[in-house]
Amino acid sequence: MGHQANPVQVMGIDAGGTMTDTFFVQADGEFVVGKAQSNPDDESLAITQSSKDALSQWSRSIEDVYPEMVTYVYSGTAMLNRVVQRKGLTVGLIVNRGVEDFHRMGRAIQSYLGYAFEDRIHLNTHRYDPPLVPIERTRGVTERTDSQGEVAIPLREDEARQAAAELIDMGVDALVISLLHSHKNGGSERRVRDICRAVAAERGRPDLPVFASVDYYPVRKESHRTNSTILEAYAAEPSRKTLTQISERMKTHGARHDLRVMATHGGTISWKAKELARTMVSGPVGGVIGAKFLGERLGYDNIACSDIGGTSFDMALITRGSFAIAADPDMARLALSLPLVAMDSVGAGAGSFVRLDPHTNAIKLGPDSAGYRVGICWPESGLDTVTVTDCHVVLGYLNPHNFLGGHITLDVERAHAAIKTQVADPLGLSVEEAAAGVIELLDLSLRDHLRATISAKGYSPTDFVCFSYGGAGPVHTYGYTQGLGFKDIIIPAWAAGFSAFGCATADFEYRYDKSVDVAVPNGAPDVVKTLAVKALQNAWSELAAKVIEEFAINGFDAAEVTLRPGYRMQYMGQLNDLEIDSPVSAAATAEDWDKLIAAFDETYARVYASAARSPELGFSVTGAIMRGMVATQKPHLPKEPLAGEDPPEEARIGRRPFFRNNHWVHATLWEMEALKAGNRITGPAIIESPATTFVVPDGFAAWLDEHRLFHLKTITG
Ligand code: AMP
Ligand code: MG
Repeated sequence: MGHQANPVQVMGIDAGGTMTDTFFVQADGEFVVGKAQSNPDDESLAITQSSKDALSQWSRSIEDVYPEMVTYVYSGTAMLNRVVQRKGLTVGLIVNRGVEDFHRMGRAIQSYLGYAFEDRIHLNTHRYDPPLVPIERTRGVTERTDSQGEVAIPLREDEARQAAAELIDMGVDALVISLLHSHKNGGSERRVRDICRAVAAERGRPDLPVFASVDYYPVRKESHRTNSTILEAYAAEPSRKTLTQISERMKTHGARHDLRVMATHGGTISWKAKELARTMVSGPVGGVIGAKFLGERLGYDNIACSDIGGTSFDMALITRGSFAIAADPDMARLALSLPLVAMDSVGAGAGSFVRLDPHTNAIKLGPDSAGYRVGICWPESGLDTVTVTDCHVVLGYLNPHNFLGGHITLDVERAHAAIKTQVADPLGLSVEEAAAGVIELLDLSLRDHLRATISAKGYSPTDFVCFSYGGAGPVHTYGYTQGLGFKDIIIPAWAAGFSAFGCATADFEYRYDKSVDVAVPNGAPDVVKTLAVKALQNAWSELAAKVIEEFAINGFDAAEVTLRPGYRMQYMGQLNDLEIDSPVSAAATAEDWDKLIAAFDETYARVYASAARSPELGFSVTGAIMRGMVATQKPHLPKEPLAGEDPPEEARIGRRPFFRNNHWVHATLWEMEALKAGNRITGPAIIESPATTFVVPDGFAAWLDEHRLFHLKTITG
């Protein structure tokens, strides 16, 4: 189908824990999705494999297509896994003498981050993960910069030199320096950094990477700042190698442009970017960006994004067309200062292990997952614990001969036998009942989570359209949305590659944050306001220079970059601040200040309530934000003429028994790609594609619209 008149312009990659997805879009909006099992040893191979799988649907080769592409974006989970599994580099840490234990104490909050509410209140269940850098590799040096940025105790350079020498002699892979209040005055930290570099050179390690927090995350909250800087060394350095490998392999196949990577703030950055830890969470962010992109084009303002893959369930809310950014979120149970698209994740997906609690016999799902090894149903998996996918297989949800388009064959009998001994027999249930119980439990917990997250923000599901995607999303859509009352439930036909698609829709965008600390009482004289805007403008200028510098590495000059300043503000004395897009492009005058506080006041009233506004307290600016972007080629949405409701006969591929509500029913099977826009499929039905399976139970119908989005509806009456 593809030919030069209709080149492939955009590619998105999602190298997940289970599958590596690729998404290719032609100039006319036609797209293909490719899947391959992930390859943790060499991601570039899985990407090649997945690309071949996608492009074969157009009978085209990689060598043919890669040179046509103008935009390609990577997302992946390797960095996150490296942190979760504590498989990062050996890092040495230098801090102030006296606070060597701060890192492992994790502000006390790290003992329960990521826990469910019921576990947060049970102190005895809390635990600390091993610190990224153990105390043996931490050194304190005498120095103290106070909270105003004044040097109270000057740096003892001899101690810094000694610390660096000791750590280097221990054979560390990298050094990290994080001193108190360095975001206010980074002088001492920079001095230690230079000493470390000199000592490394003296000891024959001139290339030893040295990371000073002030160069990376110059923000308040030393635990967050230290963690983020450590991640640059611990987890991001190895990813740099992976990205080099991917980029080089793509170039060998003819790719001509530079690879970009999805970052936590929702924009893409170059794979050569200095701050690469910002890409630690990328695939799930891609999904949210893709949902926003679709929402903007189709007029959906409030979207509940839900993504189920092999390892996790990730959800995010788009309200009035935008998503929130958390300035110091937690990821992998670490408090960080990386701006992250606000998301909630549950460690439960289609690959999650299913176990019985030895004391209570309660079914426990996850949080660990079989990843690319799928389940016992895959004979080569080498697994001995049942997964959710094993349950799907015995219940007839998945076609054992069409997993990854038939690239791997699943063995129903193996899954059946394992569920029998591990789950069904101990519970005194039939295999079907046990497997159905597991699925119900998963659906129920996802549904509760979705409902709770939406209510906690002060909304109701009836305000939202729900987008369901990820390879396993459409398998569970009806299960986790039932009864919530969403306005509409949308399943893109490319659900399996939706995150990869989303990455391809993201802007080339850098974002930098810096703490500032200026407070202005209500009704202050103009001179005070002017001083305040000057402090903010200084920070903006500094951050803008960083943005321009990063773009320059990729060959863009300043004139091509659109800068968008923002700030964080709170009423004076409050604990939490809000992020605001600046109403002015530069700030210099007292009037500018009035505009800044007006924009904050307005946002505050929208997020909380008008009555909660407290301008009489005065205003504090807590942070400066600078975003810089360069426009990129975006995919076009597919658009097909509407055919009638009746699907073409050739789309019907058979029938399969399928277990639901305690009995077997016969589901009609449909081939997703063969369905035409306008077709309506009535349940019980299963719509199969090479990488995802859409279950439409009895009582439901799915309608395919002109953009190849399915709408799941209850059949009433
Ligand atoms: P993801 O992590 O988003 O790639 O989703 C992977 C999950 O998609 C797998 O764990 C399966 O449960 C689910 N899935 C549903 N249908 C298929 C299919 N035909 N081939 C592969 N995976 C599928
Ligand atoms: Mg995924």
